[in-house]
Amino acid sequence: MPQPLDASLIDLRDLLDLLRRHPLPGPLNLALYAEKAGRDALRYGILAACQPGAAMQCCTPACLQSWEDLVSLALLSDRPQTATCPNGYLGFAIPFPASDRTPDCLLGGGIRERLADTGAPAPAPAAQATAAATPLEVRRIADEIYRRLPELLGQQLCDFSLMRTTERLAATREMTRELARSPSASAAIALLSEALVVLFDLPRVLLFLRQTGRRPTIHSRMGVAAESLDLDEEFLLELLERADGCPCPLAGEELAALLPGSDSRSAMLFPLREDHHDVGLLMVLDVDLHLRDQVLVELLAGRLATRLLQLRQEEERRRERHTSTRMIGMIGTLALAGSREELFNGLLDMSAELAQATSGSLMLFDEQSQKLHISAARGMSSPLARSMAVPLGEGIAGRVARNGFPLLVNDIERDNRVAAPNRPRFRTKSFISLPLKDRDRLIGVLNLADKRDDSSFTETDLNLVQAFAGQAVLMIDRTAVLERADQLEQLSVTDPLTGLYNRRFLEERLDEERSRSQREGQSFSLILADLDNFKMYNDICGHLAGDKALRKAALLMRRSARDMDVVVRFGGEEFCLILPNTGKKEALFVAERLRRAIEGNVFPGETNLPLGRLTVSLGIASCPEDSETVHDLIHAADLALYRAKDLGRNRTVLYDPALARAQVAGQLRRGR
Ligand code: GH3
Ligand code: MG
Ligand code: MG
Repeated sequence: MPQPLDASLIDLRDLLDLLRRHPLPGPLNLALYAEKAGRDALRYGILAACQPGAAMQCCTPACLQSWEDLVSLALLSDRPQTATCPNGYLGFAIPFPASDRTPDCLLGGGIRERLADTGAPAPAPAAQATAAATPLEVRRIADEIYRRLPELLGQQLCDFSLMRTTERLAATREMTRELARSPSASAAIALLSEALVVLFDLPRVLLFLRQTGRRPTIHSRMGVAAESLDLDEEFLLELLERADGCPCPLAGEELAALLPGSDSRSAMLFPLREDHHDVGLLMVLDVDLHLRDQVLVELLAGRLATRLLQLRQEEERRRERHTSTRMIGMIGTLALAGSREELFNGLLDMSAELAQATSGSLMLFDEQSQKLHISAARGMSSPLARSMAVPLGEGIAGRVARNGFPLLVNDIERDNRVAAPNRPRFRTKSFISLPLKDRDRLIGVLNLADKRDDSSFTETDLNLVQAFAGQAVLMIDRTAVLERADQLEQLSVTDPLTGLYNRRFLEERLDEERSRSQREGQSFSLILADLDNFKMYNDICGHLAGDKALRKAALLMRRSARDMDVVVRFGGEEFCLILPNTGKKEALFVAERLRRAIEGNVFPGETNLPLGRLTVSLGIASCPEDSETVHDLIHAADLALYRAKDLGRNRTVLYDPALARAQVAGQLRRGR
């Protein structure tokens, strides 16, 4: 009599392998059935013996019934029993010896009945060809197995099981080494899948992977039809938490809740966890794993988790390195921005690239109005964007600006910090809103939304953008300095009363213009204009009216000149115009238009002046005809101007060398 089996040491399923290596069962499929496991287990056993790999529906109810009757009879009679199912397949049920009643029955089947008299097989119900035997042959096999069972279940099974365990241990060790060397996540997963099939003969396995901010994804589904897969994500997370890294069984309603639509009756869950990171979940379906195999699968799952996390961290580090290089490049590019607009657009585009956002805006804070104004926008039309101003403390950006803390939101509708319905112009519900500060001074707010792959933004995204924004703030400040410098520069070359260029600017431009005309062999002209009797106008109308008249005259000159002409307040009521690439005749044309504009314009109180109107006298000189130096050119134009005064004012005089001679002769009233 064999020793009772110690089920904790020996996996009875090894008996099946032991028998399969034996010539006795021939091509028969084998399965085990324990009565205490219930009717569902019996059906799975029947299916495994009769039509392994086929869906449950393949066995008709009549077929299942005949098998159930066969098993009951075997257990009741304590003798092996054989039968032919309504589908024409032969099968047997062999009860275990009384002392080893776990499991209770060995099932064999899947062989077609051959008619004893003709020797021809019965017509096949299914198309696939299977081995055939007579009922008598199957009966003999069953009796022989029954006879040998005590012996098989004794030392043979112990030895075999030990060998099996040693084999699996060695293979598992090899697998763990291979896993540690896997070059990619997919290679590691493929390796584990293969191990589960080859080493543990698992019929149905599912593998889910988790990554922060993303839905769990299915990466392996051996033996499970893809279309039947549906996963309750929230329940999965709850289970992972509950399992706390340890394998746990799942059955009945809970399994149905986790995998709606699946026909699995039981599952063993192996959380893929490493260093408190839930990397994913391995599910072994419909097999009661022996403790020995469970421990080995757990070990492999652990190694897979380690490798997956390592690969993920390596990838993260690689990305970080790439990102820092990219970020340095970006900052370099930003530093070269030629205008504030270019800077703001670049800043937003680059932040969006770092966080893989497809829409967003850069808002600047205006201290005077205490509002945020959009300076750059992506994914919304610019005119609309620019017309929006957000008061401090209002809306999400307004609150971020006031609180001074960044906001990373996964679901705008559920996050109770915002709890706002998602606005239709955004595709996804996750966004980043980041205050831009220079120490304690608020500069603006950067908003990013709609991640390229529709997933949620992560802490990593936020950190990246924050690091980049730190530099960005310095850039914004730099443009503010530049803008102020521009303004100062502008101030230093303009005249505050009229807004025209001042004399300092004139001198620089004249030098440039003279060099250019020399280089290009082109003439340029200079017009000097002096308001007539302006001292009298001041005396009559007052100094304030005089100022107003000066401003008006400046405007008229600006308008009468051409775009390329430079209009300068030369001093007091005197103006000067540089006319690039312009000869004397053309200059006369411009000067006359200017003179007529002043003459034709109504200045308050002008009727009391000697000419009854406020007028202007003008003198023209050209380079190089009249002079080759800037100083002499001004002098020539001046001589012409005073010739115009001499001739009665309100007129234009072209310089003529005779004027210089007249001055020398003392015929010209004044000179400067
Ligand atoms: P002419 O026709 O010979 O040029 O006579 P004029 O009175 O215009 O010439 P003059 O050079 O004697 O006087 C120039 C006057 O222009 C003196 C000053 O009262 C006036 N003036 C100069 N700069 C300003 C200014 O900034 N504002 C005002 N209101 N008047 C100014
Ligand atoms: Mg004057
Ligand atoms: Mg004057």
